[in-house]
Amino acid sequence: MKIPFYIPYLNEEEIVEVTAAIQSNWLSKGPKTLEFEKEFAKKVGSQYAVGLNSCTAGLHLAQLALGIGQGDEVITTPYTFVATSNTILHCGAKPVFVDIDPLTLNICAEAIEQAITPRTKAIIPVHFAGYPCDMDQIREISKRYNLAIIEDAAHAVYTKYKDEPIGSIGDITCFSFYATKNLTTGEGGMITTNDEAIANQIRIMSLHGMSRNAWNRYAAKGAWYYEVEQAGFKYNMTDIQAAMGLIQLQKLEEMQTLRKQLAQAYNEALRETDELILPYDSPEHCHSWHLYYIQLKEDQVTITRNELIEKLNEAGIGTSVHFIPVPHHPFYQKQGYRLTDYPVAKKTYESIISLPFYPTMTKEAVMYVAETLKTILSLHKR
Ligand SMILES: *Cc1c(COP(=O)(O)O)cnc(C)c1O
Repeated sequence: MKIPFYIPYLNEEEIVEVTAAIQSNWLSKGPKTLEFEKEFAKKVGSQYAVGLNSCTAGLHLAQLALGIGQGDEVITTPYTFVATSNTILHCGAKPVFVDIDPLTLNICAEAIEQAITPRTKAIIPVHFAGYPCDMDQIREISKRYNLAIIEDAAHAVYTKYKDEPIGSIGDITCFSFYATKNLTTGEGGMITTNDEAIANQIRIMSLHGMSRNAWNRYAAKGAWYYEVEQAGFKYNMTDIQAAMGLIQLQKLEEMQTLRKQLAQAYNEALRETDELILPYDSPEHCHSWHLYYIQLKEDQVTITRNELIEKLNEAGIGTSVHFIPVPHHPFYQKQGYRLTDYPVAKKTYESIISLPFYPTMTKEAVMYVAETLKTILSLHKR
């Protein structure tokens, strides 16, 4: 059996709609993007949404819109994709990492306060694998110290913190529609906010800082004239992406139901495997199940995490590791960061494996992965 790590769930409907977008002759940001923004905002319970070409662009513009720059500090987790912290550096600010909670693998909310200095401007929580961060506590700290909350919700389309959808909580929330994310447009992203001024600012900055976007300019009623008010970026979404995104949004409930069923199938198949720690979940929240990961209890086995990945690979099973912590990367080490300063992130990184997980994965494939894993572990018991 050959089981890839991920397959996007795309079918005829996306092909039809993307084809229609191409045939409409409107390829860049236009009516489809505006429609997708409106539908997406409705879905996550926010007032405004701005379509972008990535979540990275969203994180960058979110910080710029809040005036974060030289000399400022932004608190985030070391256990994330490097885009989170790279964008802090792009603004000229300094990433300050706070270690993670060993249970949820999200930023340890209790430890945030100790990291706050007079230079701290914002907190960027990352909802790892789609399980929400402790937003009550993060909100409370941010109020007390007057800090902004920018959520990295790259994994958290569909996630709810208690009854609140991610996208309706922080000052600005950034979503990713990258190829492997729960909802994809190939590449793409979206910011949501309830602040009209921030939404407008991000919209303008995503299109060169122009006061009117191309659609308004070229539409029949529009004019050729525009003004550049700021040195903006080229971060806009396209109507080809939005056409795919609208279909994906319609399919979201279905895709999420499948993800949840697969997570349950993995949980049941692996529940009694003492050498593994399974992903944390709580009925209090809605988990988006972006990833299904396991942690190897290395003191109970004679095989290393890397050897286990190799053995799974030999059995035709694709895996990944989320994440290589940011302070592990040579660039960050050159800035003086050390992974040993974040012992939980370090230990988690050394023991974690993301298993194959995608909506069209069959129960048989889940069983094959689980059985292969159990067989390998039983041969390497300590
Ligand atoms: C994928 C990802 C991003 C970046 O998303 P893009 O849309 O590719 O820019 C940022 N943060 C996290 C946690 C991610 O997993």
